Amino acid sequence: MIQSERQRRAYLDALGIDVWVPRGDSAAPADATDEEPVVPREPASPEELADWAGLEKAVSSCTNCALHQSRTQTVFGVGNRAADWLIVGEAPGAEEDRRGEPFVGRAGKLLDEMLRALGLDRQTVFIANILKCRPPNNRDPHQDEAAACRSYLDRQIALIQPRIILAVGRIAAHHLLGRDDPVGKLRGTVHRLDEIPVVVTYHPAYLLRSPSQKAKSWRDLCLAAAASEKHS
Ligand code: URA
Repeated sequence: MIQSERQRRAYLDALGIDVWVPRGDSAAPADATDEEPVVPREPASPEELADWAGLEKAVSSCTNCALHQSRTQTVFGVGNRAADWLIVGEAPGAEEDRRGEPFVGRAGKLLDEMLRALGLDRQTVFIANILKCRPPNNRDPHQDEAAACRSYLDRQIALIQPRIILAVGRIAAHHLLGRDDPVGKLRGTVHRLDEIPVVVTYHPAYLLRSPSQKAKSWRDLCLAAAASEKHS
């Protein structure tokens, strides 16, 4: 039986086995895939990233790192492109990779509830991730992957000009702020990224495992709300 490459990868993925296809794998037998190979492209130029349309196009066809080989689709981000609040998470998980939208799994439901408690929702904020592609088996993003994706998030920040950035979880905080302290140490302070206030809180997936930390997270959200009021 001929198995499609996509099917094979899905089975291996479900078994927790990483599949890496080398770039430009010209040695691969002709029948190894029934899909058009993705031709690596040059990283987008600043001009190509100038507006939302160019940015979306560049992200959806990005081959800047190896994750393009295993993604189902890129996860650009969702919400109001003139939002006061920008929520930044880590990277798409399996469900996000399937649906093309960030935070749609269980953690996403909790994030929605947290936003609702502030009188916000997915349509009023913008939600994005450090990485636009899912790392296999939801492993932590590698440094080179985050670096390859950074210009996209930077452009999103520049276009949105949010009044507050909420970094959810260790990975988002570390990559946004260039720090490696634990979340417990980074929360409770208003950091700055090019003058924009940044507040760090726990990742909703962590809160699902440790619900006793939700009260601290609520304090972080209140700190973020106060910081957004001050920053205009
Ligand atoms: N966790 C994240 O950090 N981002 C998502 O989009 C989903 C889960």
